[in-house]
Amino acid sequence: TYTLGPKITSWDQQRETWLTQNPNFPSSVAGKPRVLLLTGSPPKPCDNPIGDHYLLKSVKNKIDYCRIHGIEIVYNMAHLDKELAGYWAKLPMLRRLMLSHPEIEWIWWMDSDALFTDMVFEIPLSKYEDHNLVIHGYPDLLFEQKSWIALNTGSFLFRNCQWSLDLLDAWAPMGPKGPIREEAGKVLTAFLKGRPAFEADDQSALIYLLLSEKEKWMGKVFVENQYYLHGFWEGLVDRYEEMVDKYHPGLGDERWPFVTHFVGCKPCGSYADYAVERCLKSMERAYNFADNQVLKLYGFGHRGLLSPKIKRIRNETISPLKFVNRFDIRRTAPLKV
Ligand code: UDP
Ligand code: MN
Repeated sequence: TYTLGPKITSWDQQRETWLTQNPNFPSSVAGKPRVLLLTGSPPKPCDNPIGDHYLLKSVKNKIDYCRIHGIEIVYNMAHLDKELAGYWAKLPMLRRLMLSHPEIEWIWWMDSDALFTDMVFEIPLSKYEDHNLVIHGYPDLLFEQKSWIALNTGSFLFRNCQWSLDLLDAWAPMGPKGPIREEAGKVLTAFLKGRPAFEADDQSALIYLLLSEKEKWMGKVFVENQYYLHGFWEGLVDRYEEMVDKYHPGLGDERWPFVTHFVGCKPCGSYADYAVERCLKSMERAYNFADNQVLKLYGFGHRGLLSPKIKRIRNETISPLKFVNRFDIRRTAPLKV
């Protein structure tokens, strides 16, 4: 069967030795594990040209979040393995980055159609000390319903360790484009509740793997739903004004969602489950909602959630540091120990 590369069996020891020999590249800084956010998009321009504009907004949004929180970022547009094109492209890239950046403790995959909408919230990494994969989902949907949307692979974290390499190896075999992916799609549709008939996708394949080898993997998988590591856009995007009225950034849950993910929208592609206009409008709202949180430090805000235009929200002053102390998110964000 298909493999991602030579079978590595002693990564934990190899990495530990490397970390000892390279004290200038520690895997945690000031008590915080090093995190690298990985995202990307296809190597070619979007079918729908406006899609490229939204990809730009999406990466701008991620750069903002990562700068504020001291997270490194990688944007990938290459298909490292031509067999694993499309949504499967994240697998070889995750493996590559683990092996090339032994100093990184957590690699965080985030889809291009997912936006940070809470610029203050931080992932509570200390909660996951005993886990290697953190993914948004619902255990009942997973184990009782075997639903194909029990977990979402649009935003998840992998610890850089042997276990993760093993999981990637077990996850990849349904991925190769062509007859393998087609046939695997039939298996997944027959097994998972609610899944339409189409080729194997990475999300269904992960759910299938975790269900069929539960004992082997689930001990190290943290299924998170206390905050929106992934948040389905419908039902969130129309409530942003209400959230501004009632709550504040930093909550990360339905009161102020950490991530808003445009599942089914595909502004870059030629087909989608939802009307393109509705998707673009909703993405614009999510982007501006997040951007307002960033612009606040500079004294500006969008004229409305649908407007790229901005307005001043306070006057210039001769003592600007007062505002730095009040509005710099890096100062107001909770410090993680
Ligand atoms: N992706 C990529 N290269 C590709 C296709 C997809 O890096 O050639 C990434 C992109 O970030 C996308 C994610 O994989 O958001 C999931 O792919 P999918 O086709 O499900 O797109 P989505 O519905 O998330 O837009
Ligand atoms: Mn997506």
